[in-house]
Amino acid sequence: MEPVSSSSSTPKVFSSPQELSEVTAEIRSSGKRIALVPTMGALHEGHLTLVRAAKKMENAVVAVSIFVNPLQFGPDEDLDTYPRTMEDDIAKLAEEGVDMVFTPTPETMYPNGFRTTIDPGPLAKELEGATRPGHFAGALTVCTKLFSLTHCTDAFFGEKDYQQLILMQEMVEDLNLPLTLHPIPIVRENSGLALSSRNRYLSVEENELATKLSEALYAGRKAADDGLTAGEIRGAVFSYLEQFPEIDIEYVELRDARLGKIEDLTDTGEVECRLLLAARIGSTRLIDNMGVTLQR
Ligand code: AMP
Repeated sequence: MEPVSSSSSTPKVFSSPQELSEVTAEIRSSGKRIALVPTMGALHEGHLTLVRAAKKMENAVVAVSIFVNPLQFGPDEDLDTYPRTMEDDIAKLAEEGVDMVFTPTPETMYPNGFRTTIDPGPLAKELEGATRPGHFAGALTVCTKLFSLTHCTDAFFGEKDYQQLILMQEMVEDLNLPLTLHPIPIVRENSGLALSSRNRYLSVEENELATKLSEALYAGRKAADDGLTAGEIRGAVFSYLEQFPEIDIEYVELRDARLGKIEDLTDTGEVECRLLLAARIGSTRLIDNMGVTLQR
């Protein structure tokens, strides 16, 4: 088996889970850390920012997985049309000096007889989970498999999928998984639009409308900075978005930093919270979120 060198510029690409697992077990037994960046591909600067953070770790081999995970898509979602740009993705990862890329297929990840899945806690039924039942069970299940197959010591997740990040943290704590999660702030375009693989579904006009989502969150943040209440902060986001009736709002919610309900918050003073939203623009569903400081 060829050694995986952290200075090589062409990543070693694994499609076989078994082969990946054998190689990463050897790397771990040599005393190196393994930093994993799980993705669904169609890579953009958001993903690459996670990769660069992983690359900063000392004594670590960096692995990126590219897998459009069927388990986390609902029956009416975009599994079939989700952008797949494997060659481009691997070229980008080579440029970043990534050591290993894992590109499994649904058949090798979920062979006949696959039965066991992760059952997330109650938070998985709220926010995104309210309209995407099974989404987080699918995401946590695939990541558990990826953690196990890559033998990773560290895994990097974007705050773009804030609820996923919190649920991942809950799982790592609850199940004592032996790895450290590293949250990475959202990367935005100059317009404020959070980078997303799904942005490529947007027409020029829809892209312009999509920039209003982050503007609405900034309006909410300003309301928080002005000392307004949780209800008023949410109201500020809604009234900003009211100007754009083409935006179909699914939810706007203010939660504490671990996504607990604000009604249950007992802290006083300045409390770090999260303002989260989901909306449809045309047929594209987008999510965004932002940290805000609530004064209580
Ligand atoms: P995905 O390919 O959409 O599953 O995303 C893979 C990882 O990249 C997840 O941890 C995402 O949260 C993260 N990510 C996606 N977009 C961004 C962004 N704009 N900024 C930061 N992280 C991101």
